Amino acid sequence: MTGIVVLGSTNMDLVVHVPRAPLRGETVTGREFRTVPGGKGANQAVAAARAGGDVAMIGAVGTDDYGAVLRETLEHSAVDTDLLRTAEGPSGTAHIVVDDEGGNAIVVIPGANATVDHLTPGDETLIGAADALLLQLELPLAGVIAGAEAAHRHGVRTVLTPAPARSLPPELLAVTDLLVPNEHEAALLTGIADPPAAAEALLREVPEVVITLGSAGSIHAARDTGIVTVPAPRVRAVDTTAAGDTFVGALTVALVEGRPTAEAMAWASTAAALSVQRPGASTSMPYRPEIDAGRL
Ligand code: ADP
Repeated sequence: MTGIVVLGSTNMDLVVHVPRAPLRGETVTGREFRTVPGGKGANQAVAAARAGGDVAMIGAVGTDDYGAVLRETLEHSAVDTDLLRTAEGPSGTAHIVVDDEGGNAIVVIPGANATVDHLTPGDETLIGAADALLLQLELPLAGVIAGAEAAHRHGVRTVLTPAPARSLPPELLAVTDLLVPNEHEAALLTGIADPPAAAEALLREVPEVVITLGSAGSIHAARDTGIVTVPAPRVRAVDTTAAGDTFVGALTVALVEGRPTAEAMAWASTAAALSVQRPGASTSMPYRPEIDAGRL
């Protein structure tokens, strides 16, 4: 078992399936509506726990009905929620449109997540004892930076998914060990469309980068090694929601187990490829035996 703490968001995903996403001012008729527990933080926590990590979640749910469901969902996948706060008011929600090509468009309303702008002493103790801290950008930046700095002080590896995309302050980059953007986030962060060139540019800010490229796989770059490209398995995607979160959760488990980078990325690619073939966010994430079996 590997000790992974996730400091991040919990959201209820309100998902509609449509033939194609509406344009501005347009109304389209969708086929189906579902509520699915999500949030990038919770998704990465579930992904890592199902991949075999010993995972605890720091964040906040609301006092609405969604809050209880979000907490139960984490616990159902064996994520420790002792330090998941309950904040007066609504839980975070994400409003997701999935089209027939498996693409998605998302609006996030932070709700309770907005209260996680600081660490409690208990949070810091938990982070300090971990092997890795997973972070995303769906919490207030002050909370994310406080978490990353606490991890850094204790020598705990930080893995940051820079999503939703925004420019990153130098104090956060200074305490980021591994940055995992998708290709759009990498382009936004660097102004460079070519992923290998964007990775090179990001290495001036952080020591290690993985850029995910959807069905084209992923690339790894570190200051002391070259660029390693890992293809994604060829599968039929039905819903790519949380593909990146599945990838990061599984990747972190493999890395803290000390597995070589290329092997860890291939294993994470298998986990993500399993998840995109099923509808949903955390519900679509594979358990370790499935990832190890690698049958796609
Ligand atoms: P995000 O979900 O953050 O936008 P990506 O779309 O880059 O991230 O997907 C993350 C990872 O999930 C990819 O690197 C790849 O391993 C896997 N993946 C995503 N889409 C597909 C697909 N259509 N087929 C196979 N693997 C996929």
